[in-house]
This record gives sequence, structure tokens and C-alpha cells, in this order.
Amino acid sequence: MIRLNDITKEILSYHPKADTTLVEKAYVYSAKVHQGQIRLSGEPYLSHPLEVAHILAQMKMDVVCIAAGLLHDTIEDTKATLEEIETLFGPETARIVDGVTKISKMQFSNREQRQAENIRKMILAMSSDIRVILVKLADRLHNMSTLGYHPPEKQRLIAKETLDIYAPLAGRMGIYWMKSRLEDLCLYYLEPAIYNRIKEEIARKRGEREKFIKEVRQTIASKLEQHGIKAHVKGRHKHFYSIYKKMREQNLAPNQVYDVVAFRVIVNSIKECYEALGHIHAMWKPIPQRFKDYISLPKPNMYQSLHTTVVGPVGEIMEIQIRTWEMDAVAEQGIAAHWKYKEGVKAKESDEEQFAWLRQLLEYHQSLKDPVEFLESVRMDLFPNEVYVFTPKGEVKEFPKGATPIDFAYSIHSEVGHHCMGAKVNGRMVSLKYQLKTGDMVEIITSSKAHPSKDWLELAKTPRARNRIRQWINRQERQESIALGKAILEREVAEAKLDLPNPTKNELLQEVAKELSFHSVDDLLAQIGFGKISPKQVIGRLRTRLGVKEEKVPGFVSKLVHKLKRRKEGHGIQVRGVGDMLVRFANCCHPLPGEDVVGYITRGRGITVHHKGCKQIMSADPDRLVEISWNSSDEEVYLAKLRITSLDRKGILADISSIIAKRDANIIQAEVTTTSDKKGIALFTMEVKDYEHLHQIIDELKKLKNILLVERL
Ligand code: MN
Repeated sequence: MIRLNDITKEILSYHPKADTTLVEKAYVYSAKVHQGQIRLSGEPYLSHPLEVAHILAQMKMDVVCIAAGLLHDTIEDTKATLEEIETLFGPETARIVDGVTKISKMQFSNREQRQAENIRKMILAMSSDIRVILVKLADRLHNMSTLGYHPPEKQRLIAKETLDIYAPLAGRMGIYWMKSRLEDLCLYYLEPAIYNRIKEEIARKRGEREKFIKEVRQTIASKLEQHGIKAHVKGRHKHFYSIYKKMREQNLAPNQVYDVVAFRVIVNSIKECYEALGHIHAMWKPIPQRFKDYISLPKPNMYQSLHTTVVGPVGEIMEIQIRTWEMDAVAEQGIAAHWKYKEGVKAKESDEEQFAWLRQLLEYHQSLKDPVEFLESVRMDLFPNEVYVFTPKGEVKEFPKGATPIDFAYSIHSEVGHHCMGAKVNGRMVSLKYQLKTGDMVEIITSSKAHPSKDWLELAKTPRARNRIRQWINRQERQESIALGKAILEREVAEAKLDLPNPTKNELLQEVAKELSFHSVDDLLAQIGFGKISPKQVIGRLRTRLGVKEEKVPGFVSKLVHKLKRRKEGHGIQVRGVGDMLVRFANCCHPLPGEDVVGYITRGRGITVHHKGCKQIMSADPDRLVEISWNSSDEEVYLAKLRITSLDRKGILADISSIIAKRDANIIQAEVTTTSDKKGIALFTMEVKDYEHLHQIIDELKKLKNILLVERL
């Protein structure tokens, strides 16, 4: 078992001035709270946090991170609380322990492979501090090395999770030694037969291969030395898992995998990298497709190197990487993001931006000697624009920041979206406005009565949800325009006294629809409802078919007038569920924005807007009334007429005009008459913005001296 002493010694070896008191305190506390707990291996539980802390020390972490490693299981597995940890070890340590605990509580095992990327991102998003992931990885590494004590079923489950999630995470962090070790351990538990065959194969040729490695190293080094290049050459076996991958990809047996050895040549300058490449290619034949120049085209995580594969001295295929010492440090010291290239996943543009922090990090790293200072600079926010949430089944879904339960509902199914009325987040009811947070467990509540509305478009952040909502609204609008078109046409048919019972079901109308190049009668009705096609035109064609004499149709001029009116007046009003409708304002009551209004279907003219209290509307056919509302964002002006009765005094007209002008209303027309009883009656027609605007003017006018009455006409 690792002892505390081994850990503090390790820390002092890379950071001689470190104060290890925190680590010692954490050790004592961890020993106290884990007391009596036993690992499956039969060892005291404390052995686990000690091993984790030791791995972190070997990774040259700071004392806070190592203390957190000693404490990482205390909240989950003992009576210790986060508050206690914070009081005793400070907020930084507590934050890391808390982060590790949160990740451990999540159930990631037994998920589908396609979920792995989302889970990796979720873990990264949940870790406000890079050290949370490092502790978690160290924890996983030790658990993997003691996996043998678990029953086989559990072994496979944990190994699978490690292979899908933690090994790639280690790779993303650039900690390749850990990635390789995790992968090899996973292979051992998931494919024991293959693992053993690879092991045997490597062992069988060990002596031979080691001799070969030595020879190649010497050949390269001396060749380069002849040309005045001082090079350090390393040779190694590739790890088992990468051999296994090659076997699988190329369908080979272990003894058929030849390029199991890789060499690395480290030189002093970029110029020497290319020179070394030339000399190596002169010695051994390169395989053309395998050459990669990451020096002139660095990977986004700043990785630089020349990669080439050559046919070696005894016909063996060898991979050789050539780089400078500086490039080697960047590649080895990690926290880099290779994984997406190695796994053949194409990086997204935004991902590249998110790794900008890495570049900064590496610059820092070169200028800082103190690991404490270094680690303090690596608080991260890898995915500032995304959130990761769970479905009730534990699936992880990715959404843009600001996404709401509506986005979540549509990501499940359009029908779930169309009928969602609320959601439960972590068991609590929330409204559709709730913004999802990473780690939330979301459950959608649906109702057959719920349906999308236009304000959902504001709440939805994903294109999928927005498209579905828009489709639904368009379909709804279409249905309403068909209904409106039907009503208009039926009345028009009755007006024209055509002998056509149930006209919208009649074959003749189908013919007319075809003649006007509509796919269906519904399309034709929808266009009538939208006010895009005149029912008169349809009536005319029906007449021809019925052999009835044609009446006079409205001429070009009157049609044009309708269009102009629609452009000018129709703007600013929204008919519930019906956009782009022929709308005009009634001349009888001049409704203003803000007032309660109602629409009346006018034959062939779409909808006329009346004041709700208008006498004409009171006596109108209720079937032809439609609900309408004002569009508040509108900048249009409306006509209003006022009659102002006053005592006839000098200058009163000027006073009235100045009030109207001061209020920014444009006077269109003014008429003044004097009555026999010395009263002045002024009629003003003006443009106002809305009802509110008009009332402000009326109120001001009423305050004027000698004004008797202000009435709206
Ligand atoms: Mn643990």
C-alpha cells in the first residue's frame, strides 16, 4: 500500500517549496471517515484514495488537487459533508471534491455507444475546474487496476464505460499514458482472449524486437550525426489496444500486425526536423499516404510533428515521428485534444474556438515554473454555449444554452412537442420558459389540449423545434384560411344566386380549381381566405359552367385600389391564426390600435376591422365575425376625428392646434364653425399612433380654458 510519505516525497520532488500540510490533514481526515470500510480486494478503503493521490502526484499536480484526491470519496461514501470539507480544507478543495462526487453519482454505464460523446461533453461541462477531471481519471485508473475483484458482469460494464468515456477523456486532456493504460485494461476485461494472444505474440518476439529497436535507434542516430544533427531517438511498442484496433480494422491476426513499433526522433530545430526526414527517407522507403506534416499545419491543439511510415531494414513497417524538444514537451505534457482526430471525428468550427484556452494554457505552461500558479490558471469553460441534460431513461441530450423544455420535447418527437404543456426538472414542475441547465433530468408533461403558439418561437432555441412550431402554425393558418375561403365563397355563390348547393363539395369547383392551376379545392379556398384570389373570378368561371349569364366583374382600377389599401392599412393588425390576410378598417367606427376590435368577413374583400362596440357589428351575422388582435410592434399611424366644442374666444384654434402638434399628431384636416349661441365647433382629422396617443391628446385638450366638450367621432 502507498504511504502518505510516498506522496509528500513525490510532491517535494517536483515542487520543493510546497506546503504539504493540506495533504497531511486530508490524509488524517480521510483515514478517520473511511475507517472500517473495506475494498473488495480486502484492503482497507483508505488504500484507494491514497493510490489516487499518488497517481495525481505522479502527474505533478498541486497540493489542493492531491488533497482532493485523498478526499474524493468522502462525501459519497461516508458521513462527511461538503460544508465540513469546505471548513477544513477551503473552498477550492471542496469545489473539486464536489465536482468529482457529482460525476460519480451519474449513471453513465450501460449506455449506447452513440451517447458517449455527449456524456464526455457533459462531464467536461460539469467540471468548472480541470482538476475535477484529473481526479476522476486517477480514480478510474485505480479502479480499473483493481477491477479483478468484481464479478465478471460488473467488470465488463465498468470496462465498457471506461473505454467509451474515460479513456477518450484522458486523450482529450492529452494524457496519453493514461489513455493507453486505461485502454489496455479495458481490452484485458472485454476481450481477454485477444489480449492474451497479443501479449504472447509480443513476448515471443521480445528479444528479437528489442534488438531490432536498438539497431534502428542507433542507425537513425548515427546517420543523423553524420549530417551534423544531434538527435535523441526513442523506440517503443505500441500499446496493446492500438495493435488490437489495427487487427480489427485490417482483419489481421496478432502475428500479422507488423508495425507494432514506433520511433520518435527529437531534434533541436524545425530545420533539422525536415533534414532528418530527408535522411530517413533516403535510408528507408516511405509509404506515401502515411506521411503527415503537422509542423507546417499544426493540429488545432498546437500539436506539431512530422509523421512518416517507412519500410525498415528487415522489411518491417515502422512509424517514425520527428519533432523538436519544444514540440515534444507540448505533446507529452498533455491537456491537448487529439482524440477527435484519432477517432476520425471531424472537429466542428466552434470546437476549435473552444480550444483557444488550450493555446493560452500552453503558453502559460512554458513561462511558469510553479505548478500551483499553473493550475490556478486552468479553470475552464469548455462548452460555454451548450447544456447537457438527461432524459428520464438516462440518455444525455445536448442543447444550445438558453434552451427550454420546448426544445427538449421536440427533440423526443414532434407530437410530444406539439402537446407539451410543462416539464418536470429534477422532479419539480417548471414552466415552458425554464432554461435547461447541465445535469438536469427533464421529463415532459403533455396534454392533448396543449398546442403550439407563436410565442413558442421565442422560447425555442433549436432549429428543429422552431421549424416544427412554424410548420404547425402554418398548417393551422392554412386550415383557418380554408374555412374563411369556404365561408366567403359560399356567401358569394348565394349572392350570385347560383344553383350550386354545397358549392365547395361540387365537382364544378374542382374543375375551376384545376383551371386556375390549384392542386386541390382546398388550395383554392385557402387563397380566397388569404385574399390572394378574388371569389368573383371563381364565380365567373362557375357561371360559365352552369351556362348562366355573366354579371359585370370589378374592373382593374378597383382591384388595384384594394391592393393598395391592403398594403397601407392591413399592416399592423394580426388576425388570430391568419397572416397575410386582406384587411381594411371600417369607415363607420375608425378603430384605433389598443382598442377592442373584431373582424368581419366582407365578401371578396377579406376582413374589415370594426370597433367591438360598433353598431354595424351588433347587427351583423355572427358567423362572419372573426377574432383579431393588434400587432403591437407596428409603427403605422391611424386616422382619428375629434369634435371640439368651445366658447368662441380669440386664439382658441391656435391653442388646440399647438396641443395636437406638441403631441406629435399630424393634422390632416380642420374645420371651424361658429354657432348662433357663440360656441365654436372645431372638427379635426389627425393621424395618431394608437388609442393611448389619442387619449393623451383628448385629456390635454380638455384642460384648455373655455373648452366645453371633446368628442371622438
Ligand atoms: Mn473513488
